[in-house]
Amino acid sequence: MCGIVGFTGNENAGAFLINGLKKLEYRGYDSSGVAYLDNDNINIVKKSGKIKNLEEAVSFPGSEAVGIGHTRWATHGAPSDINAHPHLSYDGKTAVVHNGIIENSGELKQMLQYNGVKFLSETDTEVIPNLIAYYYNGNMLNTLTRILPMLRGSYALGIVSKDYPDSVFAVRKESPLVIGLGKGENYIASDTLACLSKTKDFIFLKDYDVAVISKDSVKIYNNGEECERKTVTVDLNAEEASKGGYESYMLKEMFEQGSATDRTIKQFMGYGGINHQAFDGIGKFKRIRFVACGSAYHAAVAGRYILEKFCGVEADAETASEFRYREPVIDKDTLVVGISQSGETADTLAALRNAKEKGAETLAIVNVLKSSIAREADRVIYTFAGPEIAVATTKAYISQLAVIYILALKILDSQRKDISKYISSLRELPDKIEKLCHEAERLKSSAPKIAHCGNVFFIGRGRDYASAMEGSLKLKEISYIPSEAYAAGELKHGTISLVDENTVVFAIVSESHTAEKMISNIKEVKARGAYVITVARKGEYDYSDVSDEIFEIPDFEDMFMPSLAIVPLQFYAYY
Ligand code: GLU
Repeated sequence: MCGIVGFTGNENAGAFLINGLKKLEYRGYDSSGVAYLDNDNINIVKKSGKIKNLEEAVSFPGSEAVGIGHTRWATHGAPSDINAHPHLSYDGKTAVVHNGIIENSGELKQMLQYNGVKFLSETDTEVIPNLIAYYYNGNMLNTLTRILPMLRGSYALGIVSKDYPDSVFAVRKESPLVIGLGKGENYIASDTLACLSKTKDFIFLKDYDVAVISKDSVKIYNNGEECERKTVTVDLNAEEASKGGYESYMLKEMFEQGSATDRTIKQFMGYGGINHQAFDGIGKFKRIRFVACGSAYHAAVAGRYILEKFCGVEADAETASEFRYREPVIDKDTLVVGISQSGETADTLAALRNAKEKGAETLAIVNVLKSSIAREADRVIYTFAGPEIAVATTKAYISQLAVIYILALKILDSQRKDISKYISSLRELPDKIEKLCHEAERLKSSAPKIAHCGNVFFIGRGRDYASAMEGSLKLKEISYIPSEAYAAGELKHGTISLVDENTVVFAIVSESHTAEKMISNIKEVKARGAYVITVARKGEYDYSDVSDEIFEIPDFEDMFMPSLAIVPLQFYAYY
């Protein structure tokens, strides 16, 4: 993932580019760069590290009216000044920023090198400006229409050219790209967030769209033919996207988890039970398959356990990147549920398309309104987590869990089961989460013990296994401490040999019916000298003999425990 921005107007393109990149820094931040047109020159400045390095290195003349920018999260080639985007074509006329992966960049590069083209970077992206230069016939739109079929993979592109000093070209396939419509100026960005201080009116590009954008016109072509795309007004407050006094976006978003859950739940609560058109006829499906990536996949795993245990419905969860390349057996009795915060996760989008082709109905659970997944699925439910800026998801994850509970309750309702006790507990859940976040602040003092250990394992059973996976991912992605999540009964089959006195084990025990089994598993790791931190449901069992630390979570409605179990794990990881 990375972020791209572009501007075309009368002046001060640079200010928009830098501010926009800062808003997109959550998408990737190993290096960044800008290209702007001034006096018929393309000026490029790029720097590894955070966007402030770029900000310090660049000084815009103020007269620059057109430019593009990029914040990178490297896939091909190390994070470095040279590999940072924009990349310039070998003829020096075209600069390109790219979000995505060109899967056949190796063969395209070979072809160009064979024809004498020299490459400067190790990126896959550099083939794009060089293909443009190689096939350029004096008309950028024609040239792009010709080269796009040569590119395999995913791309959102921002392009500027010396031959078009008033324009930015935007191209999209699978990676997100929006056009923001201003007054006397227009913008492109990977996410509407980058433009919200300027406009709320957007055009969402479709796959293979090429947009030619100047300060007062936007023209969109697909396969060389001009086409119409409607303008959508996005109602999001730029303020919501700020840090609001917290030291980081992640901490702010962790503390917003109660209100995010509350907003998400409230959309369904009307007179007469749970209402939402996405649930029409939900009882007809014989099986539910969740597909998702990263944390959303962990929410999906919790979903699988919940639908089986509480609804008696056949359910399954799989990573979208595997699902899309298998030949899954699905039919019209299957509901395939794709979960994604951004609604742009390429593998999840492809998995849903794949499922649709095979005759299944699809339901999207996404946070970003009108995102690609939301637009393509048959049914959509939004999580109302608000903009999530931190790379490590917290409030979107917990909102996804809330939608899964609602889905389970709606299925129970369709089975004519009484769900009133669940509904009243669900109304209390936001408050429980909020209080727990404040209690979890004290974990700051425990964190140093973990920071220098050798190995970390997270173990749990059932829904607690989903929380273990999510806790482990949080720890890895923000502290860079290696860790692994295990279904607790599985650890003894070999991996337990890694457990010693340098190992920290988080044991998550919020499920009652597997608690005794968990105690045995904790004893196994304790016997090998591990430092055990137990995150346990209050009251039921005494874990003090087997734990070095215990963090208690409230004794609450069984189905909703994953929303409580995850909170202390997020705080441990953060601190
Ligand atoms: N594949 C490109 C690179 O490694 C773009 C990565 C991104 O989307 O940030 O430079």
